Amino acid sequence: MTVSSSLPEVELSPGTLSFFDRQPKGFLIDNQWSPAADGQTFSTVNPANGRPLADVALAGESDVDRAVAAARAAFEAGPWADMDGEARGSLLWKLADLIEAHADELAEIETLDNGKPIRVSRRGDVPFTVKHFRYFAGWAGKLEGRTIPVSIPNKLVYTLRQPVGVVGLIIPWNFPILMASWKLAPALACGNTVVFKPAEETPLSALRLGELMIEAGFPPGVVNIVTGPGLPTGSAITSHSDIDKVSFTGSTEVGRKIMAASAASNLKRVSLELGGKSPNVIFADADIESAIKGAHWAGFSTSGQECTAGTRLFVEAPVYDRVVEGLKEQAGRVRVGTGFTPKVHVGPIISETQLTRVLSYIQSGREAGAEVLTGGERLGGDLAEGYFVGPTVFAHQDDDLQIVKEEIFGPVLAVTGFNDWDELVQRANDSSYGLAAGVWTRDISKAHRFAEAVQSGVVWVNTYGLYDAAAPFGGTKQSGFGREMGQDALDLYTQVKTVWVGL
Ligand code: NDP
Repeated sequence: MTVSSSLPEVELSPGTLSFFDRQPKGFLIDNQWSPAADGQTFSTVNPANGRPLADVALAGESDVDRAVAAARAAFEAGPWADMDGEARGSLLWKLADLIEAHADELAEIETLDNGKPIRVSRRGDVPFTVKHFRYFAGWAGKLEGRTIPVSIPNKLVYTLRQPVGVVGLIIPWNFPILMASWKLAPALACGNTVVFKPAEETPLSALRLGELMIEAGFPPGVVNIVTGPGLPTGSAITSHSDIDKVSFTGSTEVGRKIMAASAASNLKRVSLELGGKSPNVIFADADIESAIKGAHWAGFSTSGQECTAGTRLFVEAPVYDRVVEGLKEQAGRVRVGTGFTPKVHVGPIISETQLTRVLSYIQSGREAGAEVLTGGERLGGDLAEGYFVGPTVFAHQDDDLQIVKEEIFGPVLAVTGFNDWDELVQRANDSSYGLAAGVWTRDISKAHRFAEAVQSGVVWVNTYGLYDAAAPFGGTKQSGFGREMGQDALDLYTQVKTVWVGL
């Protein structure tokens, strides 16, 4: 990696400055940093001002081949293959300690590369990353099989829970370091070796994490980090015949390509955490002030760039006007700005491409006749160089609008009214996605009935957007399959072997 332009005029920690000073960088393969075989690089851009932050090596097929070969060798021989679970857990714990020790620097790198407010990186992304590595450090020595009584006499049958092998991990740009931990922590706890690709837009925290992994003592080849875009880097991973499994988070469109690449190569196992268009429901009996705040942040946290964003808001008719007024007030109070501006709530959209996409959805909503209650514009003035859009709320009566059906991944919330239960459940479930849902009510029975009826992998009742390393997370329908986090994540990274013994 080389720094190709100046950093913003903010006071950065010595660790961050030193990270941007060190060069050259490249991929992490076999615990060595090396440039691309063909010397190619790409720029990662600061979304707060549209200027390049750093040049990063771009991995082609031969670089991915090298990373896979290193991961294969480490999986089959050497210290990793011989290491017991407790020792793997100690390494993960040590890594967590190092992340904690370098928290300021990692938070700054994240905010520079992704744009999110520094407060969010400091209080959310980085500490949750630490927790995630610690949680899975605890599991590493506890991977148990079962003994199984069978109907055939004099036979002992038991199962072993073993790692899958070489695992490809591909993540998007909305939670770069945190999502790295969602995948790396369980994959490594279970004894796999990995080839990890961060998003093209946000490779920097992954590179710093790679340095910390070497420092923690992970043996060569266990963690290999390749940077580059979906094509060629991502597809070289998903179509590689010596990768045993791919764990992917991103769009449904790319999820389909990954399944096709698996089918066409070696039938590698696949787990997918894809997009969403999550319903969030406010019943008339809810604590309306909490529900308004909750609905606002469900839509606009991370500038709406969250797969679980509650962007389809259903409000029961008697409180519809009150909620709409509240949403407008909330939106008016939001401070949008660069990630290092004090007290900013919401940062920029990740890239010019994503900004254009968000603005074109807003345009389509206007043209289709939905009413813009607030927002709807790119922000100018001091923010004109960056990719900023204010919180945008549309009111609509037509669930078939593009802004209601499709994942926008920007600060765009569509609000509509509903009158009765059957109508609500039918409309809430009328989506190809099924990732998350929210419900706000004081009626405990209504809350549980909705949680059961809604087609989603996670439901929040009188709250929204909470995650914990211990709580399983993932989707249904075209939001994907497989559960990350919690004990369920162990299923993604292990396979069961059945052993029969004649006694
Ligand atoms: P993508 O699904 O395109 O990207 C996610 C990751 O997959 C990135 O690392 C990307 O590489 C990689 N990738 C892209 N194409 C391929 C491929 N053919 N084979 C293997 N890997 C590939 O998401 P985008 O970033 O382009 O965002 C587009 C839309 O996706 C958003 O607007 C949003 O709707 C949705 N999305 C959903 C997310 C979620 O959490 N569910 C997260 C992010 C986006 P690279 O980007 O580096 O080129």
